[in-house]
Amino acid sequence: MANYEIDGDELVVGGEPISRIMGRIGDRPAYLYDRNLIRRRVESLRETLPESVSLHYAIKANPMPEVVELLAGLVDGLDIASAGELDVAISTGTATHDISFAGPGKSDGDLTAAIDAGVTINVESFGELRRICGFVDSQRPKVALRINPDFEVKSSGMKMAGGAKPFGIDAELAPGVLAEIKNCPVDFQGIHIFSGAQNLNHEPICESQQYAIRLALDLCRGAGLAPRFVNIGGGFGIPYFRGDQPLNLEPIAANLDHVAEQLSAEYPDCELVLELGRYFVGEAGVYVCRVIDRKVSRGQVFLVTNGGLHHHLAASGNFGQILRKNYPVAIATRMGSDDTETASVVGPLCTPLDLLADKAQLAIADVGDYVAVFQSGAYGYTASPHLFLSHPLPAELLL
Ligand SMILES: *Cc1c(COP(=O)(O)O)cnc(C)c1O
Repeated sequence: MANYEIDGDELVVGGEPISRIMGRIGDRPAYLYDRNLIRRRVESLRETLPESVSLHYAIKANPMPEVVELLAGLVDGLDIASAGELDVAISTGTATHDISFAGPGKSDGDLTAAIDAGVTINVESFGELRRICGFVDSQRPKVALRINPDFEVKSSGMKMAGGAKPFGIDAELAPGVLAEIKNCPVDFQGIHIFSGAQNLNHEPICESQQYAIRLALDLCRGAGLAPRFVNIGGGFGIPYFRGDQPLNLEPIAANLDHVAEQLSAEYPDCELVLELGRYFVGEAGVYVCRVIDRKVSRGQVFLVTNGGLHHHLAASGNFGQILRKNYPVAIATRMGSDDTETASVVGPLCTPLDLLADKAQLAIADVGDYVAVFQSGAYGYTASPHLFLSHPLPAELLL
């Protein structure tokens, strides 16, 4: 992986060779996050995108408190999706008006916690607005409307808008909800439109940004409500699989220039927000496990490790992939070796789903070697079923 240094045969993360880091942790796998890679990623995005665009971090991609703390110091706001994430966001000292809370199915407890904290609630339904209005006493809750637009984003890894969806308020119903907002004791903050995730193609991203700004402006204009922010989503993908090309940011930057102009022409003080998760952290994380056994079954090599699906569901191919493909994988203690073979990396679970690499070309490895799964900084640790088979939890380190 181009992002990482190599020292002799060893992969280096955060300036330290892998066997030294793993030696400190004890006998269990680990997620290792590189703070410099995260920092550099935010900086390069800032250099490319228009200055007027605000960047928010969607915590669910990687909610490790140290990672959130680091990002809170680099970006302009945090997006949360639960009361647990609210606590993490608040603990970073981020100003409450730069924190927004999205997600269908917020409980009464979630809503009152958000109102008490003073963060913006992205309202996902009429019913949710009614419940919020029921909780108003001394302070006016900050609310934004999350809209389910009447368009779909092409080639998104995960579609989150268009058609019938549990997320957001259908665009055609939004004028009615905005009219209701004017009769509610709430403080209107803006519009939130999130259309999809993991897109590597700039064209549909640009298209969805244009739709989103047009829709947001139409809605605010129609309702006679001035937004403090318009959040047009994100969806920036990272390359996971062979043949994936990194996202081209230049045309997105040019498009955002235009979008920002449209917004400021009508609402000069309104903030234009992008919310990104995996783009900030995904490429800055590596999952490392250890080879426990090496076996050959009817001609096929299996490296059996102490890590697997229970720690890294996404790399096993069971987190939203339709056709299973290998994440980038390497033998982290034989990076200099030219002796390669075809091997499968499996975990300790008694299920054929527990596969970290299927027939990959890898350096010839033995018991005691470490395996690195790259592109693991997002939707790894907390997006995996740790309890399945009761093995130890992986460690998490920000280096
Ligand atoms: C999941 C999510 C994100 C982050 O998506 P990434 O693919 O990690 O960038 C942003 N906003 C909302 C509303 C989400 O649900």
